[in-house]
Amino acid sequence: MKQWQCVVCGWIYDEAAGDADHGLAPGTRWADVPESFVCPECGVAKADFVMVEI
Ligand SMILES: [Zn+2]
Repeated sequence: MKQWQCVVCGWIYDEAAGDADHGLAPGTRWADVPESFVCPECGVAKADFVMVEI
């Protein structure tokens, strides 16, 4: 499991936790997140997220 961080606002998507607000079950890998996903804080696209080492 990895975490992905929005480069614009710093919001983090945690694969282990998923994102219930956006229909992403816990354990949903970033690769399986729909391309239509946008940052819930600032609205940027998936391409503007970077992997965070934990
Ligand atoms: Zn953001």
